[in-house]
Amino acid sequence: MAKPNVLKGQQCPMCGNNTLTLMEEETEVPYFGKMYLFGMQCSSCKYNKSDVENIEDQDPVKLTVEISGEEDMKIRVVKSSQATVKIPHLMTIEPGPGSNGYITNIEGILNRVKNMLESVKESEDDKSAQKKAKNQIKKINRTIHGSEKLKIIIEDPSGNSAIISDKVKKEKLKKK
Ligand SMILES: [Zn+2]
Repeated sequence: MAKPNVLKGQQCPMCGNNTLTLMEEETEVPYFGKMYLFGMQCSSCKYNKSDVENIEDQDPVKLTVEISGEEDMKIRVVKSSQATVKIPHLMTIEPGPGSNGYITNIEGILNRVKNMLESVKESEDDKSAQKKAKNQIKKINRTIHGSEKLKIIIEDPSGNSAIISDKVKKEKLKKK
């Protein structure tokens, strides 16, 4: 892996202080190719943004993978800031201005979904909504421990996302 380029003391687009650190790094994701990783982080206002980009141009992509065991937790996932992550019957994470791109694995994706469900559970006053979130968290936990199956779909118009597995179904994403 190449050494990351780091630029400190940059002006933050959010708070205007010169406390922003920019990071750029090149990394190789097996079976997907060379990637750029970008990151910025402000120590004053905690603004944090990251993204990933394949060096080569990619086509809009739809990726579907069936998670069916503990070993699937290690499957590498590249998620760009433009990707929508769908877990049917559970959750859809739409991209937005605050979305980040990152390289993780299936367990990392499920843990993020779990954290989002935890905050739903805590912010909801409605008892049935709380119960629903609680059951969904249980389902995620059972999937992480290999006792439940789950489908994960990633749709990325930029094509910069990938799921690195023989089990993944790759399709061209149709434009809306
Ligand atoms: Zn700032």
